[in-house]
Amino acid sequence: MSGVTLKNVRKAFGAVDVIKDVSLEVPKGEFGVFVGPSGCGKSTLLRMIAGLEDTSGGVIEIGGRDVTNEEPAKRGVAMVFQSYALYPHLSVFENMAFSLRLARASKSEAKRKVHEAAEILQLTDHLDKKPSALSGGQRQRVAIGRAIVREPEVFLFDEPLSNLDAELRVQMRLELTRLHKQIGATMIYVTHDQVEAMTLADDIFVLRGGVVQQAGTPLTLYDDPDNRFVAGFIGSPA
Ligand code: ADP
Ligand code: MG
Repeated sequence: MSGVTLKNVRKAFGAVDVIKDVSLEVPKGEFGVFVGPSGCGKSTLLRMIAGLEDTSGGVIEIGGRDVTNEEPAKRGVAMVFQSYALYPHLSVFENMAFSLRLARASKSEAKRKVHEAAEILQLTDHLDKKPSALSGGQRQRVAIGRAIVREPEVFLFDEPLSNLDAELRVQMRLELTRLHKQIGATMIYVTHDQVEAMTLADDIFVLRGGVVQQAGTPLTLYDDPDNRFVAGFIGSPA
């Protein structure tokens, strides 16, 4: 079954074609990673899936539904940003409940969902704290919790670990893998970090200059890269 499908998706900013005819599929429940150098169009692609950016052409489907022209709130997606996007003046609980309030969830429903997410993320003992009282890893988990409470069909991550130190990044990678197994939702993760891509992904999409250079499992890309760019980028000797 299909999680997220892109058919001939394009994006131009003015005269510049930033995304050129991208077709790909992340099957339902899988962890897909868009990897490529800075400026290759990863964030633009993710923002189009989220509905934060219009497409210049092509079709975006989520769970088999054409969402190309649907507003972001109706797409069943939630974006996870870097942890510094938390509201510093709100508690962990309020940070996680914020989007539910916007969606007019009742107080009791919001409370239940936040407590469920806090359980998954081991944040139950920290719900009354301000983000400044948390460790970097805990802050990043709150940022993920804000997405979990919305119970999206698809999680979208845009380089969520890039402002964490190396040790914490390794720890958070393991937590993301555990989270994916536990929740089972479709996840799309954007990074310029090859190691992150290789360790997290079921399927990797290597982007360069607005096109997918190659798609496949980490093992396929490593063992059988289509071209020198993929080989060099993924780090295999080919
Ligand atoms: P990545 O996330 O892979 O680093 P982006 O998707 O952010 O790449 O950007 C891809 C290209 O599109 C870059 O050349 C960037 O300058 C350009 N770009 C992104 N957003 C805009 C915009 N709103 N207006 C004009 N150009 C943009
Ligand atoms: Mg980006």
